[in-house]
Amino acid sequence: MDIKITRASALKDKPDSSTLVFGKAMTDHMFIVDYDAGQGWHDARIIPYGPLQIDPAAKVLHYGEEIFEGLKAYRTADGSIQLFRPRDNIDRLNKSADRLCLPQIPEELALAGITELVKLEQDWVPSEEGTSLYIRPFMIGLDAALGVHSSHHVQYIVVVCPVGAYYPEGLNPVKIYIEEEDVRAVKGGMGMAKTGGNYAASLRAGNRAEERGYSQVLWLDGVHRKYIEEVGAMNVMFKVNGKILTPDLNGSVLDGITRRSCIQLLKDWGYQVEERRISAEELFAAAESGELEEAWGTGTAAVVSPIGELAMGEKKVTVSHNQIGEITQKLYDELTGIQWGHVADPHNWIMKL
Ligand SMILES: *Cc1c(COP(=O)(O)O)cnc(C)c1O
Repeated sequence: MDIKITRASALKDKPDSSTLVFGKAMTDHMFIVDYDAGQGWHDARIIPYGPLQIDPAAKVLHYGEEIFEGLKAYRTADGSIQLFRPRDNIDRLNKSADRLCLPQIPEELALAGITELVKLEQDWVPSEEGTSLYIRPFMIGLDAALGVHSSHHVQYIVVVCPVGAYYPEGLNPVKIYIEEEDVRAVKGGMGMAKTGGNYAASLRAGNRAEERGYSQVLWLDGVHRKYIEEVGAMNVMFKVNGKILTPDLNGSVLDGITRRSCIQLLKDWGYQVEERRISAEELFAAAESGELEEAWGTGTAAVVSPIGELAMGEKKVTVSHNQIGEITQKLYDELTGIQWGHVADPHNWIMKL
């Protein structure tokens, strides 16, 4: 499908990379393609970045008919630009679409929306250490009617923005609060889909954790309220007695691309990785017996985020002496090395633009 490009008449000033606030400095253009039942995807276009005109009765505004993705474009030392496993993001977008009765989008069309926009906005891809261009593809249901049905008119949109180094002062361990009241997602719900509703469900616990002085929530499963699922909007991994443990993809855990990449690297390095149910009780017991060696979250924004303290009710444990662990650091160095092109890419995860 041809992409029609309408250029912005005036370009914005590019922000200083050192003062970037995540997700605020949107670029000059955006990609949009329409879908109508019976007609399929049509009118792919790149137009000046700006507000969308949406009917107030549009389903996305009332019933949360929305899915999204998050990935980054990286500037390498030779000035070229590359993406990390973008087809995995599109594959996941289509899985989310299936769960929310949104249409499947052809992989090549979804990918072209990303690559053509990034090429047009290439001057926005920053080059300072640790910086990147964050890419946010999303799909919304737009039928203008208040009845609860899946939409026949849908848009797939891509917006991008430069983001600063996630850890300007190095990888600092975070304090995590185990949430025992609210749940993020349940089996049979939308936990495996990347959709706004799961985030809406997570805000209250996030605010509560913050008020208590913790930076993220550790989510327990919605059925037994016992088993660990994710940390904030990241997957979570533990090193216990030399082995790596991570919750299995049980339907309410998001299939993270960073998670998948970490599991592959850990196996390459000879670690045993167990994807299985892990109870909070098991984790605290391991911490108390000194077997919990490291804990970290994984996700595109932070890559890995070391966990230095876990709290549940009145119980508190320190992990890895509140320092970044050896494996956490090694995963961070290897993944960011591949993403920015400093180290070899044995699994063909990189796509050059
Ligand atoms: C996006 C996301 C992740 C991380 O996925 P990546 O593909 O690694 O960025 C984990 N959990 C939730 C809930 C997410 O939305």
